[in-house]
Amino acid sequence: MAPINNAPRQLLRRLHGIMANADNAEQRLTEIVRLVANNMIAEVCSVYFVRGGEILELFATEGLNKSAIHKTRLRVGEGLVGYVAATAMPLNLSNAKKHPRYVYRPETGEEIYHSLMGVPILRSGKVVGVLVIQNKTQRHYIQEEEESLQTVAMVLAELVASGDLFSPQERHEATLERAATSRFVGSVFAEGMAEGVAVFHEPKIEVIKHLTDDAPAEKIRLEGALDSLQKQIEKMMSAEDVRHQGEHREILDVYMLFAKDKGWKEKIEAIIDSGLTAEAAVEKVQLNNKVRMQKISDPYLRERLSDLDDLANRLNRHLMGLAGTAASKILPDKAILIAENMGPADLLDYDRERLCGVVLRDGSPTAHVAIVARALGIPMVGQMEEALLEVAEGENVIINGIDGVVYFSPPPEILQSYRENIESRNVMLAEYEQLRDKPARTLDGVDMELLVNAGLTIDMDGLKRSGASGVGLFRTEFQFMVSASLPRVGPQAEFYRDILDLAEGKPVVFRTLDIGGDKPVSFLKRDDEANPALGWRAIRIAFDRPALLRYQVRALLNAAAGRELNIMFPMISDVSEFKMAKAILNKEIDRQEKRHKGNKDALPKNIRVGTMLEVPALIWQLDNLLPLLDFVSVGSNDLMQFFFACDRENPKLAGRYDPVSPPALLMLKSIVDKCNDYDVPITLCGEIGGKPITALALLAIGFRRLSIAPASVGPVKMMIRSMDLSSVEPYLESLLSRSDHSLRGLLTTFARDHGIKI
Ligand code: PEP
Ligand code: MG
Repeated sequence: MAPINNAPRQLLRRLHGIMANADNAEQRLTEIVRLVANNMIAEVCSVYFVRGGEILELFATEGLNKSAIHKTRLRVGEGLVGYVAATAMPLNLSNAKKHPRYVYRPETGEEIYHSLMGVPILRSGKVVGVLVIQNKTQRHYIQEEEESLQTVAMVLAELVASGDLFSPQERHEATLERAATSRFVGSVFAEGMAEGVAVFHEPKIEVIKHLTDDAPAEKIRLEGALDSLQKQIEKMMSAEDVRHQGEHREILDVYMLFAKDKGWKEKIEAIIDSGLTAEAAVEKVQLNNKVRMQKISDPYLRERLSDLDDLANRLNRHLMGLAGTAASKILPDKAILIAENMGPADLLDYDRERLCGVVLRDGSPTAHVAIVARALGIPMVGQMEEALLEVAEGENVIINGIDGVVYFSPPPEILQSYRENIESRNVMLAEYEQLRDKPARTLDGVDMELLVNAGLTIDMDGLKRSGASGVGLFRTEFQFMVSASLPRVGPQAEFYRDILDLAEGKPVVFRTLDIGGDKPVSFLKRDDEANPALGWRAIRIAFDRPALLRYQVRALLNAAAGRELNIMFPMISDVSEFKMAKAILNKEIDRQEKRHKGNKDALPKNIRVGTMLEVPALIWQLDNLLPLLDFVSVGSNDLMQFFFACDRENPKLAGRYDPVSPPALLMLKSIVDKCNDYDVPITLCGEIGGKPITALALLAIGFRRLSIAPASVGPVKMMIRSMDLSSVEPYLESLLSRSDHSLRGLLTTFARDHGIKI
């Protein structure tokens, strides 16, 4: 019998022989368990595979009763083998019987064994089986032995991948079973419905060849892959464009440090020397790293180890020639991208003719990639569970971006019902399209104005497509959020000029920087705040860093030279703040006038100045404020969160309080009435204006101008054109004195009874 210290090399050499020569999967398994038992001086070696998703079945054993093969079954989580499967972690016990999870199966005859070591068999990060060795004595298995067993487990995963272990019937059943359960529920990031085929944004990596007898060639491959990995990181570090927003310099520095780390490379090379391919060696180091990660409680160190995990994935992508994203290949028609997460520029890289939806495991509806998806009209859902990434490339997918549901391999009846849904939605969209150039006029002849919210150049497409009369809110912070550094005056002005050009003479209301809160920018370091929405954000930052606002205003004045400039300030809390902001603007206007003495074209031909109304305190200062400004824009997203003391970002609170309720509508009505008294134009630019039923309530309390997402213009216009304002107004008025939590139900019934299309 081989002495232990030579064992790993010998084990791999022999494994290689078995994998190359044995006739079929069953025979390979039998020979592998025998080899492991001999090589590791264990009395028992057994392998269990997962069947039907939840059951671990004994497939081969050396040492236990052979009659137990295909008979002994454990649930995932049951007994020690089930425990290894449930935790996906190795278990190494000198006295297994003392472990609280120990259960004894009489048919196996295993009661005489004391020590046990089990490792998970992983395929693409998912547990597909468990490999176990046992000894009669209370043996302490050493670290090297654990690693050897893990290597064998990797090779066994290869057997699973080959598909030969299960009958064609079983494989078919497994697919059906998965299809029946492959329904994921998440959050809607961009509304819409789509049917298509799954394409992984970053190709899945699955090591399919583990063993080699040409170590020098593998080392050369490793060298090449490390080289391209380093080049990739260098490129990421030098990029200043939107592509890498959010990837902080520090993280990339750590990546580079790891990528150049000699220790890491030497570890991989040592494993290659023992007989594994380069990618299998990387996977093995990664596996050890994961085991270490589980044992570390320091969050910083864990974070670094998870960076290393990501880096190992990247290295393996280079080794397998899969370094790019799916954007670099030709997409199938109707592709639906599946990704952990992605940046806005990643999404923009794709062929929009073929891309029809995106499913993200992570992400957030306020992330920029979601904003871009909304602007492009691509349905996007996110915040799904981990298992999402187990779907197969090429599977049929349905995205219901209304309810946030995704189906993979949907059964025919679901497919049918969604196709009908998609069809009727398309009919609706075509109807909205018909309304594009028609006025937003009620049946009794009251004209409303519909504007769009925008923040990126591509949003201006939405202005055109929707037929809206202008941009009621241009969120200038997006340009800053997607930049690695502070945009200078020149590029800022160029960007605003482009926006004005694209608006083709329709008005655009630029809101000055609304950063902070949930909108971080990489160039401004902020303290951790307990309540960022109530914290150092928007105009408050501008007063503490006045150059930011001065340069932005300068860029806006330059960009709008010879045209009208509409400008407003975010998060104004009292009159003095508006005065201060306006004073900064006036100073810049003076500067511009002095610089371009006599040249009228160097300045905007008309400058209109307004404020966002997002802070409730401002409502009680309107008598003093309104005479000072040209317009007001109600930011209902923030106003509602402050009014109801209800965090707009917290999913647990989503929908808890309703703007279609007496207190909210009375508050909004008091603002509209005041603005009307002073003859100051007022718009509402928060999300609530985009839902037909809410828009109905807003128009009934006196709003005549809404700024909404381009996709909402059609539905809201359709609602407006089907209503008789003179009948809605008194009805809503009569509801405002009630004490209901919400008036939505009553208003919806009224709308249905009166043929209002909501
Ligand atoms: C608002 O608060 O309603 C608003 C329009 O601003 P933002 O959503 O950008 O905070
Ligand atoms: Mg706001």
